[in-house]
Amino acid sequence: MPQHPPAAPLFAFEHSFAEQLPGFYTPAPAATYPKPRLILFNTALAQELGLDAAALNGAQGAAIFSGNAPPQNASPIALAYAGHQFGNFVPLLGDGRAMLLGEVIGAMGRRDIALKGSGRTGFSRGGDGRAALGPVLREYLVSEAMHALGIPTTRALAAVTTGESVWRPGANPGEKPGAVLTRVAQSLIRVGSFQLFAARGDGAQVKQLADYAMARHYPAARAHPQPYLALLQAVAEAQAALVARWMAVGFVHGVMNTDNTSIAGETLDFGPCAFMDAYHPKTVFSSIDAQGRYAYGNQPVMARWNVARFAETLLPLIAANEDEALAAANAEIAAFPDRYAVHWQAAFRTKLGLVTAQANDAELIGWLLAVMQAEQADFTLSFRELAMALRGDAAPVRARMHHAADFDAWLARWQARLVEECGSPVAQHKIAAAMDAVNPLYVPRNHRVEAAVNAAETGDFAPFNALLAAVTQPFAARAEWADFADPAPKGVAAFTTFCGT
Ligand code: AMP
Ligand code: MG
Repeated sequence: MPQHPPAAPLFAFEHSFAEQLPGFYTPAPAATYPKPRLILFNTALAQELGLDAAALNGAQGAAIFSGNAPPQNASPIALAYAGHQFGNFVPLLGDGRAMLLGEVIGAMGRRDIALKGSGRTGFSRGGDGRAALGPVLREYLVSEAMHALGIPTTRALAAVTTGESVWRPGANPGEKPGAVLTRVAQSLIRVGSFQLFAARGDGAQVKQLADYAMARHYPAARAHPQPYLALLQAVAEAQAALVARWMAVGFVHGVMNTDNTSIAGETLDFGPCAFMDAYHPKTVFSSIDAQGRYAYGNQPVMARWNVARFAETLLPLIAANEDEALAAANAEIAAFPDRYAVHWQAAFRTKLGLVTAQANDAELIGWLLAVMQAEQADFTLSFRELAMALRGDAAPVRARMHHAADFDAWLARWQARLVEECGSPVAQHKIAAAMDAVNPLYVPRNHRVEAAVNAAETGDFAPFNALLAAVTQPFAARAEWADFADPAPKGVAAFTTFCGT
């Protein structure tokens, strides 16, 4: 008999988290779904991760990405964490329906590969450990859209239907097709991971996690004379940058709990998220956010709050002297609004084609946003139409803002500023092109996502695939996608998202 070398494993998994952080997880059992079927596979991401896309894009992928057959070398674990949910501390949450298979080293570095919806774990409490197809498709679409927008985010590698149905409440309560999403993350360490052990007064565990997170995400902090303060600064910086980027595309996360706040600074957890149509800072989509805690305009405030909860966990590591530690942490929290303002101004300057930073930038941007708010102007289209104005066609944006007497004054001032920066009208066409390269035309608009997901639930994936193609190539106009750029027709009921689905 000829000797065959053993087949190389499909995943060259490493398990640095499991090996270095005992006590931060429990083993997760394999799933037992009756009829897993692979419905979406992200070939480009698979290749970035160094995976064998051809081998995974089929029945083998269905078995693996449902959780039924964790691949060779996987070591499926459910992560332990705590978290503040809508301001209330919950001492133990953890992965109630997720498993981390392991880490792979791809072109972009180390990435966690994890399943969501793969069954009950030791952290499931009353939950069924399942995920429904609708939310799985939403996360697949929106996380890939965020990536295409250049915003740090977990990614979607695959989606599988399970062959089982799950009962879900919400707008249309009932049995829904079950599904599993495969997520890829820089890591799934959250502020809540730190809170779990800090709340128990277990400083040694917090230190272990902080050292691990630093080595993995912020190696420069290790060399700092005050490494844990440097870690706090790095996480604050990552959150400030992230939320500024959300604001610049009209993204409302919807559930910025500390268990959904990634230490690596990625957008994490897409349950009730949505993109804003008409600009208003109080925009909320989530049915359970009646107080507007996570409203669009409150996101930077909440990011700071979450960073403060992270700081609390690090206090004993920051300085042995309690007052000293508090003073250093408080200074960092107090600096958050300035950190955020730097990123916010940079993002909106770029949206407006401005290249120099000037003293009155915040005022210029704020003036435009005040007009947009008064006009209930579509957030996405307003910026595209400003670029059209630079190309000589100011009619669309003026029509959109027509009630605002001072819009023409704003327009004149903005254009004067651009001329001052760049000069000639030829340059203005270049600026318009630069604006179109950062202001998306296609974002996952709620009514489109709903329609695509509803069709997919009945087995028709064509609308979903078309929308996915548009929002992952969001900047260049294409005739066949014209409808995807349009806001919801007037008179459509206010859109609501449902959490924990
Ligand atoms: P999320 O709202 O997705 O951030 O989840 C908050 C917490 O609830 C986490 O601990 C989840 O693992 C858990 N959870 C959410 N949905 C389920 C479910 N269907 N079964 C078990 N646990 C769940
Ligand atoms: Mg979560």
